[in-house]
Amino acid sequence: MKLYNIKDNSETINFAGAVRQGLGRGQGLFFPESLNPLPNVDALLELPLVPRSVAILQHLIGDEIPESTLAAMVERAFTFPAPLVKVDDHTYALELFHGPTLAFKDFGGRFMAQCLATLSDDGKITILTATSGDTGAAVAHAFYGLPNIEVVILYPEGKISPLQEKLFTTLGGNIRTFAVQGDFDACQALVKQAFDDEELKAAVGLNSANSINISRLVAQVCYYFEAVAELPAEQRHKAVIAVPSGNFGNLTAGLIAKALGLPVKRFVAATNANDTVPRYLESGNWDPHATVATLSNAMDVSRPNNWPRVEELCRVKGWKLSDIASGALNDEQTKDALKRLFAQGYLCEPHGAIAWELLNKERGKDEVGIFLCTAHPAKFKESVDEILGQDIPLPGPLAKHGAMESLSEVIPADFAALKAKMMK
Ligand SMILES: *Cc1c(COP(=O)(O)O)cnc(C)c1O
Repeated sequence: MKLYNIKDNSETINFAGAVRQGLGRGQGLFFPESLNPLPNVDALLELPLVPRSVAILQHLIGDEIPESTLAAMVERAFTFPAPLVKVDDHTYALELFHGPTLAFKDFGGRFMAQCLATLSDDGKITILTATSGDTGAAVAHAFYGLPNIEVVILYPEGKISPLQEKLFTTLGGNIRTFAVQGDFDACQALVKQAFDDEELKAAVGLNSANSINISRLVAQVCYYFEAVAELPAEQRHKAVIAVPSGNFGNLTAGLIAKALGLPVKRFVAATNANDTVPRYLESGNWDPHATVATLSNAMDVSRPNNWPRVEELCRVKGWKLSDIASGALNDEQTKDALKRLFAQGYLCEPHGAIAWELLNKERGKDEVGIFLCTAHPAKFKESVDEILGQDIPLPGPLAKHGAMESLSEVIPADFAALKAKMMK
């Protein structure tokens, strides 16, 4: 797979390089040089998730990774299903939260971990990341037990939910976690200082494994094929897919799936009050407002870092940006949607409920709607319980880790202290 830097087209790189490096010069995103349609989409739709995903990823990545190696990587990454659940005769939920940390980020995170483990040149790698919640858990579980990789996670002491904290601080092994005496910004500042410290970088092989990594996107392409594959055959050419969006990696992956020949009629980009993209698609003006906190907090992003990839994809495919439908809901509308969806017999959480509501607004009479459910309802238990007047049970992984001992160390928000811990 050849990729180029969107900001500086003269910089090109292969898949392994893009995985290791993350971003290009000038913080530019890498984008595939070619996205040729798959020759055999109908046959692929008949396969189970894992072998189909191997074929899709082989097509995208090419001969850089031998097929048998790639197959082993996909088997280790995609260890859980993505069921399409019928909500009514023309509406389905694609449940992407059956992985170990109960959010769709498990798909991309786990495949990225496999890529880094396979494509690193033997040296030791240390993944350093700051988290305000979900990302830490997904990264920790994805890299847990992989050889030659150590993971260091920083989070603000006392500022994330105890259950979320336990999900990644109880693993041990190659996962080290530090509760920093400061806020999330202080954690991010420490990460930045670490990447500026050449001595530390070289000594531990620092890598950020962050959300713009191309390996995450290609992995996410696979569950769009799964969604269409699970539709009854007569509905497969009528699908409109609504995607709850924050940084727009998920929507980018959907558009790549369409570029590869997946029959999707349209996408709906669904946001909360952080509505930079819906306003832009409406007015043509890119005008981010200050980020506001909402019920669907994983989408509290006003400057989505994957958006340049959406524009580039539309440009190279000759698609109109205006073909992407979009909309935004405020918190009151989100609560209302969650309640009506529950009344229809489907228990959801705020992110998925926003997608469902906007899907209903956009879907034409003869179309079939799929909305992506990006997190397990129990991950947002406090708000979901309050809005629905329920006491939803904790699923296995949350309950199990909640009962375990945290192995975190507390450190001051001080780079020297962090460096000392990491160098030993
Ligand atoms: C990360 C996340 C999103 C947003 O996904 P993007 O790819 O950043 O657009 C939506 N819902 C949940 C639950 C998330 O964790």
